[in-house]
Amino acid sequence: MNKEIPKIFEHQKTEPGLYQKWEQSGLFTPKIEPAQKPYTIIMPPPNAYDQLHIGHALFVAIEDIMVRYHRLKGEPTLWLPGADHAALASQIFFEKILKEEKGLTKYDLGREEFIKQLGAHIDANREMMENQLRRLGASCDWTRKKFTLDEDVSYAVRYTFKKMYDDGLLYRGERAVNWCPRCETFLSDLEVDHKDSAGQLVYIKYPIKGETNKYIVVATTRPETMLGDTAVAVNPGDKRFKDLVGKTAVLPIMEREIPIVADAYVTMEFGTGAVKITPAHDLNDFEVGKRHNLPVISVIGVDSKMTAAAGKFKGLKTKAAAAAIVEELQAQGLIEKIEPYQNAISICERCKSTLEPLLSKQWFVKIKPLTDPAIKVAETGEIKFIPEHFQKVYMNWMENIHDWNISRQLWWGHRIPVYYCQNNPDHFVVSIDPVNKCSECGGGVKQDEDTLDTWFSSGLWPFTTLGWPKETNDFKYFYPTTMMETAYDIIFFWVARMIMLGIYCTGKVPFELVYLNGLVRDKQGAKISRSKGNVVDPLEMVGKYGADALRLGLLAGMAPGNDSIVSEERIRGYRNFANKIWNAARFIQMNAGEDIDLDQVELNPEDAVQIKEFQAIIAEATGHMDKYRLAQAAELLYEYFWHQFCDKYIESAKNRLKTDKSAEATLHYILKNCLIMLHPFVPFVSEAVWQNLYPGSLLLGEKWPTRRS
Ligand SMILES: [Zn+2]
Ligand SMILES: [Zn+2]
Repeated sequence: MNKEIPKIFEHQKTEPGLYQKWEQSGLFTPKIEPAQKPYTIIMPPPNAYDQLHIGHALFVAIEDIMVRYHRLKGEPTLWLPGADHAALASQIFFEKILKEEKGLTKYDLGREEFIKQLGAHIDANREMMENQLRRLGASCDWTRKKFTLDEDVSYAVRYTFKKMYDDGLLYRGERAVNWCPRCETFLSDLEVDHKDSAGQLVYIKYPIKGETNKYIVVATTRPETMLGDTAVAVNPGDKRFKDLVGKTAVLPIMEREIPIVADAYVTMEFGTGAVKITPAHDLNDFEVGKRHNLPVISVIGVDSKMTAAAGKFKGLKTKAAAAAIVEELQAQGLIEKIEPYQNAISICERCKSTLEPLLSKQWFVKIKPLTDPAIKVAETGEIKFIPEHFQKVYMNWMENIHDWNISRQLWWGHRIPVYYCQNNPDHFVVSIDPVNKCSECGGGVKQDEDTLDTWFSSGLWPFTTLGWPKETNDFKYFYPTTMMETAYDIIFFWVARMIMLGIYCTGKVPFELVYLNGLVRDKQGAKISRSKGNVVDPLEMVGKYGADALRLGLLAGMAPGNDSIVSEERIRGYRNFANKIWNAARFIQMNAGEDIDLDQVELNPEDAVQIKEFQAIIAEATGHMDKYRLAQAAELLYEYFWHQFCDKYIESAKNRLKTDKSAEATLHYILKNCLIMLHPFVPFVSEAVWQNLYPGSLLLGEKWPTRRS
């Protein structure tokens, strides 16, 4: 074996070819072996429209390590990759492109064309994103890849919506949403801009019921909305109003009795510290109203005119109504003062019109029936959390959860499968397949304009990816999955929804283990973001130092649930380790002859000691891996390989080589098994070395070492 081996590991030349070899080997695709329990991870799908960022590189490292480990242990191992349509983010992103490149808005294209063009853009980008996963070394099964808008996934989403509706778990409720009177559409929160506007702050005296000449004074920039007030709120910590909380105020003009409530949402510094609460016409007030069970009275319509609920002001435009109301209050002596006031008003991102928060019909999930079983599986340990303390975080949240509004005012996503009758506003049909007639009166129908919250379809991800609701072989074998690994900041958005919907849809937990990784921060501890200019681009790092160095750089010192620090220096440092492995193997290959089985040689005492010590390393590394202590396993193997094996043992064995079969066999034995154990962490350099030592075989498909007896 005198083939010339390059002096350094040339990652740029080597890595892509190795990945191709792996992918073509078919080893990423597990065989269904009914007698064996599979190890399954469904990948958190990255956004299809975007590039991978450093947070993705962290989850790829963690999940790929676990997947390669279990594959080496001989378990049927599935890591199912996917891509997310990322409704809101994608739509905003593409609207920006349209505007910048063509000066167009989504309305110029229309719904169908907009979706078509965005879809084409995403198809092209998605391939690039998938190739980035390959560059990071993700050993996932591409034959099973899924996109959240795939037809079978979309079918499963509509199927679930219908099932939940039939089971009484969905209802249509009202929520205050920003309405653009010019675009005549409800906007999502992120389609809203703000601008400073010069207005007035009107201080109105609300009499206290049963007490003469006692008032609570509220300040408002929109006096016309007072007609829809259903409470006055103060901050619970505000001593000025301590005696008034729990009492009743009488709403002027309407003569309606409304409660005075305490809510932490109120800032003591605004106005008098007491604010009027109008749930129908303010997004925050709507939330306050929900917390205090306040009625919702809608006094402004989609035409920006006062409704019948506004009494004698009905039909007036909001501005005219405001003036008339102030005049009447002044006549009654109920205006304390009027001040000029600068405030930020919400405007339409597109047309810059002032937005009007109005009540809109939205779909909600009745959440309580779903939480009880989802709490139980965490309590009993049927689902475990790493780190453990997230179990409490999860349970606390589940116990205080509110009904879930799943309607989104977006075009890009799963359109809500409900068809409304054109003749009768009370008629509608919930249907998996399109319908064109009202089932009650035969009239024409129109599909709901809204799409579903991304987290609704994401909540079904662990089983829609496996073919559910069909009883596919994949679903039967790989579900429930083994581990869900994701960042802790989406435990509520995503993990909780997967558990609730998983149990509801399949009767089983979606996974046995939740592993929560921290966020990646820069050296100063700041969150990595484009706007901060501290971005560490994972693909750039791979190009400069190799994927192995990036993976170790992210993993070093990492503890689950804790944020970790990334820096280019650290990644560069781990390139040295890849080179260390390369050089040690090169030395052994050039100086220690052929790999001979340990059992074929008589071991010298010093080699026997070395091998005995190595058995403890195998046991310890295996223990760390089984307990998901990945950083400790990496550190152990790094320390052992560099400082024990290379610095001490190779040095001491050097002089005995070529004459001493015992030393040669020991070197080969330890190197070989170190390569296998290091493979999950540094897949590329370990495989490259393996290819030199054992041409024709793949380290990827080797067996994890066990202790020699
Ligand atoms: Zn607009
Ligand atoms: Zn009808």
